[in-house]
Amino acid sequence: MNPYWSALVRDLRPYVPGEQPKLSNLVKLNTNENPYPPSPKVLEAIRAELGASLRLYPDPNAETLKRAIAQYQGIGTDQVFVGNGSDEVLAHAFQALLKHPLPILFPDITYSFYPVYCGLYDIAYTCVPLTDSYEIRVEDYMRPNGGIVFPNPNAPTGRLLPLADIETLLGRNRDSVVIVDEAYIDFGGDSAAALVNQFPNLLVIQTLSKSRSLAGLRVGFAFGHEGLIEALERVKGSFNSYPLDRLAIAGGVAAFEDRDHFEWSRQAIMWTRQWVAQALADLGFEVLPSAANFVFARHPSHDAGELAAALRERHIIVRHFRLPRIDQFLRVTIGTEEECQILLDALSELV
Ligand code: PMP
Repeated sequence: MNPYWSALVRDLRPYVPGEQPKLSNLVKLNTNENPYPPSPKVLEAIRAELGASLRLYPDPNAETLKRAIAQYQGIGTDQVFVGNGSDEVLAHAFQALLKHPLPILFPDITYSFYPVYCGLYDIAYTCVPLTDSYEIRVEDYMRPNGGIVFPNPNAPTGRLLPLADIETLLGRNRDSVVIVDEAYIDFGGDSAAALVNQFPNLLVIQTLSKSRSLAGLRVGFAFGHEGLIEALERVKGSFNSYPLDRLAIAGGVAAFEDRDHFEWSRQAIMWTRQWVAQALADLGFEVLPSAANFVFARHPSHDAGELAAALRERHIIVRHFRLPRIDQFLRVTIGTEEECQILLDALSELV
């Protein structure tokens, strides 16, 4: 152990992202990327930017992108914050909004980055168990807390919390910041965007990584009351003057302009999800209802780890989860129809 490290660094257990192996000859269904390319207009905008001005610093306020997001959401530009992927936006939000004498609350089965941010920023937290059907129950969050954060739909379960429940949660927690992480909201859920002007304690976080096929560009954003956004800006300004590079700003703006491509790709994924969920059920899997671009499933007589390993031998990569209470689940990203057919063919030989 390096004697110059601080105690904080020694104790940190960083988040371990899903594997990113070389793509040739692989069916990669492990990290919830979109299987379709981004809009051609995004590529055009990035090419134009590349030819123009990489010599110069980007706009520290990413004004054009904020305007595109504000317009899309029907809110003011001063209600929008942007960052390098929603992971970074979440990091700033934990630091700016969730440091509190009381523990913050999040589900016990959820995005595993949340406890990592708590460790980094020294935030106390309490994990609230999901129900036996792996759902968030809002009544369990009606207790004194330093803030609440959860993904909707939840990850890795894919289960969606209805907007009416989020409204109840917000109404009964007016003194706490409630962060709804909507990384997967475009695959069938109703966004809490509809509630931001009603609840100044609500911060919604979204990303271009999933429904807009831009995981590699690293663009995430948050929106909510101006006061919350100002807090995020202060933290960001104390960390990095330039939240996004020029290519990310240009590509991000174009992604919001091409609504047809967005609609097409999310509809294709939702259609494929329905087909895959049914096909898995036909193979004997228990499949949780999903509103995300992945399904969470287990087989009553096959260990998820062994299934994942057997799929891997056939060059198909999925995630299996070894968490308390759910170690037997597989999480499968919805790929193209061809990719999903390869997966289903393999599973039909394995189960
Ligand atoms: N929130 C959730 C629930 C996620 O699953 C992910 C993807 N790993 C993220 C946020 C982060 O996504 P990104 O940083 O690519 O925007």
